[in-house]
Amino acid sequence: MAGIIGTMQALEAVKYITGQGELLTGSMLVFDGLKMEWRKVKLPKRNSLCPICGDSPAIKELFDEEQQACSLN
Ligand SMILES: [Zn+2]
Repeated sequence: MAGIIGTMQALEAVKYITGQGELLTGSMLVFDGLKMEWRKVKLPKRNSLCPICGDSPAIKELFDEEQQACSLN
C-alpha cells in the first residue's frame, strides 16, 4: 500500500516540477485497495473566516490541555 501511494505522490511531484499534466490541487485521490478503485474527491475551498487558517486567525499556536492542568499543581 505504501508503495502504491508513494509512487503516486512521486508522479505528482514530477508533474509539479516539470509543469506537465494536471495536478490534484483542490482535490484528494483516494485508493480503495479492497475494491481496487481510485476515487477523486473535491476538497472544500478555504474558509476565510476559519479561526486557524482564515484571513484573521484567532488560534495561532497549539494548546496542550494536559500540560496546562499540570502547571496548576
Ligand atoms: Zn481552516
